[in-house]
Amino acid sequence: MDLARFPRRRYTQGPTPLEFLPNFTKALGGPRVWMKRDDQLGLVPGGNKTRKLEFLVADALAQGCDTLITCGAPQSNHCRITLAAAVKEGLRCRFVIEERVPGSYRDDASGNHFLFRLLGVETLTVVPAGSDLRAAMQQIADDLARQGRKGYVIPTGGSNALGGLGYVACAQELQQQTFDQGVRIDHVVVASGSSGTHGGLVAGFLGNRIDIPITGIGVSRDPQDQVPIVHKEAQAVCDLLGLGLAVPREKVVCVGGYWQPKYSVPNPRMLEAVRLVARTEAILLDPVYTGKAMAGLIGMSRDGAFRRDENVLFLHTGGAPALHAYERELLA
Ligand SMILES: *Cc1c(COP(=O)(O)O)cnc(C)c1O
Repeated sequence: MDLARFPRRRYTQGPTPLEFLPNFTKALGGPRVWMKRDDQLGLVPGGNKTRKLEFLVADALAQGCDTLITCGAPQSNHCRITLAAAVKEGLRCRFVIEERVPGSYRDDASGNHFLFRLLGVETLTVVPAGSDLRAAMQQIADDLARQGRKGYVIPTGGSNALGGLGYVACAQELQQQTFDQGVRIDHVVVASGSSGTHGGLVAGFLGNRIDIPITGIGVSRDPQDQVPIVHKEAQAVCDLLGLGLAVPREKVVCVGGYWQPKYSVPNPRMLEAVRLVARTEAILLDPVYTGKAMAGLIGMSRDGAFRRDENVLFLHTGGAPALHAYERELLA
C-alpha cells in the first residue's frame, strides 16, 4: 500500500524495536511474549499518538494552521504528545480537558499534567464528564479565528481516518521487521481505547494481507460497545486508502473485563501487570492503558488462550509519564 501520497511529518528515526521478553515469558510460563516498543517513538516521551500526529500535523501545516486544539482526560498522553509536536513545529496548542472521573482534576498534578505546563500549553479548559468535546474545541477554534489565527481541531486520541494511517504505517513497519528478524508472530495484543491504534492496525493488516489475529483489550468499554467503534475506524481508514473493501466484522476482536471499575481507575490486575513487567524486564507500562492491556494478555495466557510455544506480540503504546500520578497505588 502506498502511504507516500499522504503528507507526513517525521518524529521518529527508524523503526521502533521489536524485542523478545525472556524473563517475562518465563514468569508467565508461556506463551513467548514479544514487544513492539512504540513507547520509544519520538516526542517527549512518545507513544502511539506520535504515529497518528505525523499525518494529522502534516495536514494542519498544509492548511496553514497556527494552533493545534485537542482534548483528553487530565492525564492524557495524547494531549502531551500533541503539545510536543506543536512545540517542534513552532505552533501553539490548546486543550479541552474532560474531568472523566469527577473531582480528579488538580492544577498541581504530576505526570502528564506537569508536562503540559512545562512544555507551555497556551490554554487548558476543564469541562465536566460527558461534555460535548467537539463543540468545546470548535468554540476555541472560532475564538482564534476572531483573532485572525487558525486552529486545527484534532479529535479524541487523534482517532480519525487520517490519524489511523499512523497504524497502517506501523503494520508495514512490523511486516518488514518480522521478515528481517526472522520472527513469526502468531497473535497481536493491543490496548483499545479511542480506536485509532486498533482500527488502524486492522486496516493495515487487511491492506497488506498480514494474516495475524489482533486482540484489542478494552480500556474503557466491553466488546459490545468497543467493537463497533473500532470497526468504524478500520473501515474509515480503508476508505481513505481507497482499498475498496468492507472490513469483516470478525477481524475486530475485543476483550473486556480488564478496565473496570472505570477508565483510568486502578485495579489489582493492572497493578500486578505493571509491577511484573517492571521487575522482570525493567520496562515501564502505564496505569491507564498498557497496564490494563498487559493484564489482559496475562489473563488470556492463564485462561489458555495461547499455546505455550506461540509468539505473542504486545504493542507497547507508551504512557509512562502517567505512572507518576499513581505512585501511591503502585507502591502500596
Ligand atoms: C491513547 C492511548 C492508547 C489507546 O489508543 P487509541 O488509539 O486511543 O485506542 C493506548 N495506550 C496509550 C499509552 C495511550 O496513550
